[in-house]
Amino acid sequence: MLMHMKVGWVYHEDYLKHDTGPGHPERPDRLRAIVEAFRKTGLDRELIPIAPRAVNPMKLYGTHLPQYVKHVAQACNMGQTFIDSTDTTICPDSYDVALLAVGGVLAGMRQVMEGKVDRAFCTVRPPGHHAERDSATGFCLFNNIAVAADAAIAEFDLKRVAIVDFDVHHGNGTQHAFEHRNDVLFVSLHQDPKTLYPGMGYYDERGVDRGEGFTVNIPMAPGATDADYRRAFDEKALPALREFKPQLLFIDAGFDATADDAMAQVSLTHDAYTWMTSLLCEVADECCGGRVVSVLEGGYNLESLTDCVVKHVKALMGHDASVAS
Ligand SMILES: [Zn+2]
Repeated sequence: MLMHMKVGWVYHEDYLKHDTGPGHPERPDRLRAIVEAFRKTGLDRELIPIAPRAVNPMKLYGTHLPQYVKHVAQACNMGQTFIDSTDTTICPDSYDVALLAVGGVLAGMRQVMEGKVDRAFCTVRPPGHHAERDSATGFCLFNNIAVAADAAIAEFDLKRVAIVDFDVHHGNGTQHAFEHRNDVLFVSLHQDPKTLYPGMGYYDERGVDRGEGFTVNIPMAPGATDADYRRAFDEKALPALREFKPQLLFIDAGFDATADDAMAQVSLTHDAYTWMTSLLCEVADECCGGRVVSVLEGGYNLESLTDCVVKHVKALMGHDASVAS
């Protein structure tokens, strides 16, 4: 498919205000580097800017316990330096920035659902896929994508929403948000949990009760290559998506599965982000008018992150559609 898709870009300078402290891998420079890369490649002129607004905290209550949301607000207000787990560092602004991150993904989702853009890429932080109903972990405060998937179902009367998470870490928070349900398909490719944080996402975690079969975990061995991922896409991820026929596809887009990202041991090339994205867009073209909302999660080596993000966004635009077949 050679059509050029209209792709929205969610970004706000306030995302830089979430200060995680010296030496923390999930740092504001990640977004600065992406913005710079979009300028250098001219993508910033092709992308359609989407301005986020902070979400009303009550909108989070379907995904997070109200007392947890208050706990995050309080921890930030009181100047705590981390919350719940020592890796999840915060500053006084973090609560407001986290509300703006959720609001960003909501704005991207709504623009896509309203047909104002075909797809959206949300460069938000803090990331979200590790955030649980009642606790912060793995650099994540609120589960941006889970709130947006729920809002898509509620606001646009959708029956089937799919989330594909290719961050190298398992999206435990997202899985737990939906594992009892059959209206959200969660497909996650990640490094084998025996060898990597968060130690969840085994193959036999397939959903609970009526949600059984709607969680698809695809653990990848340390050292896994493009060929291994391609096989996992062809044999597991894509058939599951095609059977489910989503009305909206979210990508939980982490860029930490490359050989040059030190956060894990999976060894993808940067080109993997072109073909993985193109394959997912093909499914979206078949099932849901091409509607894709992609949300930034991890990716910590700035050179690798920016190159992979550029490749991902070009594939969302349909620049590199030929590699998908
Ligand atoms: Zn990750």
